[in-house]
Amino acid sequence: MPFKALDAATKQKIISFNYSSKLELIAKHQNIVCIYCGAAMHCRERVGYLLHFVHNAPPQKCPSAGESWVHLECKKIIYDLLTKRLSELSKELRNNYRVDIECPVKAIGRIIDVALLYRDVPVEAHEAQISPITVKELESRNQDYQSLGIAPYWYFGRKSLNPEIKKWCERTAGEVRFFEIE
Ligand SMILES: [Zn+2]
Repeated sequence: MPFKALDAATKQKIISFNYSSKLELIAKHQNIVCIYCGAAMHCRERVGYLLHFVHNAPPQKCPSAGESWVHLECKKIIYDLLTKRLSELSKELRNNYRVDIECPVKAIGRIIDVALLYRDVPVEAHEAQISPITVKELESRNQDYQSLGIAPYWYFGRKSLNPEIKKWCERTAGEVRFFEIE
């Protein structure tokens, strides 16, 4: 259930919540496909939920499949936080930066939940970690990001912030930044 999809005709990347309604979105984009697996998608509008995309048929193998609604909502919260932070910068600085959601980094085969880009290159990776994760996996993701000069930021939820992860946060504080989100 991503927020981002591709207009197959124009190759334009579309972010669902930048449109006020499904009607407005489908008036502008009729042929929508998944950025990751290329399968056909459609925009879903539901009361109480932000506009998002779903695959027309259950995908065989797609990194965006199986994402929880809480995770999706947390990404939007982080996106809004960063966008607000950016709006507070001076105009000169702001011109070089951009906030992007669901940002693939091909070199490491990862998708950043919310990225801060400097001249279109990701410099910060903000990750909403709602489901449980191991320290080993966290370290592996951090290494991937840091190898490209991307600073990782983690936002943990109730299920992921267990004593082991808390300890890891204390150990790496200063090097990696953490927040509680859920
Ligand atoms: Zn897909």
